[in-house]
Amino acid sequence: MPAIPHSVIALAETLERRWKQYLNSGNFDAFVEFTLSLNGLTEQLDRLSLPGLVRACQGLENMALSLFGGDHSHPIGPAESDAIQSQLTAILRELHRHETPAVALRQTDHEETHTEGWNRPRDVLIVSRAGHSWTSSLFEQLQFFGFRPHEVRWEQEFSAEIMPLAVIFVPDQEGLHYPNEAVAYISHLRKGFPASFFYCLSVPSILESIVHLQRAGADVCVPVSDKVSDVLSRILDLVQTKEQTVPRVLVVEDSATAVAHIRRSLSQHGIDSRAIGDPRFLLEAAMDYHPDVILMDMYMPFCTGVEVTRALRQLPEYQSVPVIYLSSETDIAQQVEALRLGGDQFLTKPVNPIVLAAVVKTKIDRYRDMMRSGRHDSLTGLLNHTAAKSRLEVMIKASEPTGMLAVAMIDIDRFKSVNDTWGHPVGDQVIRSLAWLLRGRLRSSDLIGRYGGEEFLVALSGVDLEKASVMLNRIREDFSTLPHAHAQGTLRCSFSCGVASLADFDTGSKLVEAADNALLEAKRGGRNRVVPASR
Ligand code: GH3
Ligand code: MG
Ligand code: MG
Ligand code: MG
Repeated sequence: MPAIPHSVIALAETLERRWKQYLNSGNFDAFVEFTLSLNGLTEQLDRLSLPGLVRACQGLENMALSLFGGDHSHPIGPAESDAIQSQLTAILRELHRHETPAVALRQTDHEETHTEGWNRPRDVLIVSRAGHSWTSSLFEQLQFFGFRPHEVRWEQEFSAEIMPLAVIFVPDQEGLHYPNEAVAYISHLRKGFPASFFYCLSVPSILESIVHLQRAGADVCVPVSDKVSDVLSRILDLVQTKEQTVPRVLVVEDSATAVAHIRRSLSQHGIDSRAIGDPRFLLEAAMDYHPDVILMDMYMPFCTGVEVTRALRQLPEYQSVPVIYLSSETDIAQQVEALRLGGDQFLTKPVNPIVLAAVVKTKIDRYRDMMRSGRHDSLTGLLNHTAAKSRLEVMIKASEPTGMLAVAMIDIDRFKSVNDTWGHPVGDQVIRSLAWLLRGRLRSSDLIGRYGGEEFLVALSGVDLEKASVMLNRIREDFSTLPHAHAQGTLRCSFSCGVASLADFDTGSKLVEAADNALLEAKRGGRNRVVPASR
């Protein structure tokens, strides 16, 4: 668990204050303020990559939104307000538990300062009966990828000294309904660990079973057919930072009043926006601003929102950007027609600011996920070749002033013989293991791409050639000891690596070429080694 900065604690304190203000006044406006500040906190936690706490806040947000109503429905009843209070208390307690110490520990050497970014939430709790075969293999693999696994027996008390990133439940009987005692234990742990991710393994694909487990607090019900390695991959996903770019919304609206209202609502929710009053400037604005969503007024001078959207959809790069219409239109037939002609959603003006932000964010998440799937490799989840290269260019620009950036090319040794001896699926698993190891060991700000079949491109920011070589060498040593399962036992693999520094090679292509040449040298020198490129 990374320490939580004071700025976030301050947000949490504001949230607490707003809640008290609502309890005192009982009026709707105070409730809206509370919900808004809750939303702001969720956002910050999301940026800090704290999925468990984000989940807890989102739960609270949903609870609050369901009680929204209007002036007439406030103050809310005592049962509802108790439920909010207890969830809020649990969240605040977790936040304070991980608050940055007031006096920061002194960094004694460069090593510590630098490895700081590698500290991620790491505790994972495995709940199973003693000696379950899955537990030992999960335990071993989690440890290997840098997590701290802990074991606990079903129904055993567990001291809440740690806040696990994830809790994994391994049932006694594979693929059967979880027994009542097990479900009760899951909901018991859920109260102690409101912010952890709960995985129930080997859940039968029966709706009733899944609903029961979800009610008890399960976040993910892993189907019977999924293997232990799939679970590990999901846990690794938890520690990956999401894209941190602020969501961008382009508002196409001719009324200055409407624009002011919309932009204010968006900015309160941490969404950036730009507005144009004349749809004829849309293409220029979109090209310059790269919006994640377009909010489109229906009636404007020159042409209607529907016409603009149809025109926009003719251009390949704007075929999928979400368009949300805004209008005082209440005629259902017109709305359906507008959606048919290329819009994604219809909101009626004046739009409730919270509804607007929620709709915009949902659309942005979907859109970004979709764009993401085009940039990521399906076997490993890493950036693909093209995406890795363009991300490298961005990193180079950012590191140019200092030259502190290292690029590495990694290639698995004698990989063809793995495929030839043990088959392609085993080869695939070796590739995935290396991908996971890299993801587990590097910071989320580093670049890891699958450059080719069994070749990876890595870029480490803020490090020099020597430091990068040391880090990659450690990963190399670990990889060479990692056992990969095949039908008759396990096999070991190694990789070779070439590294080059931005201080010595000043463009992306020169860096990659230099790292590639160093990689060749590593192969020639006997493989299973890291070779730094000399100028
Ligand atoms: P070296 O130590 O020189 O790198 O030897 P190598 O056998 O690894 O070298 P080579 O580049 O000739 O072989 C790479 C092999 O990787 C060839 C290709 O069939 C295999 N390969 C490429 N992509 C995949 C993949 O996605 N899955 C699997 N299983 N194999 C792949
Ligand atoms: Mg208008
Ligand atoms: Mg190769
Ligand atoms: Mg190879």
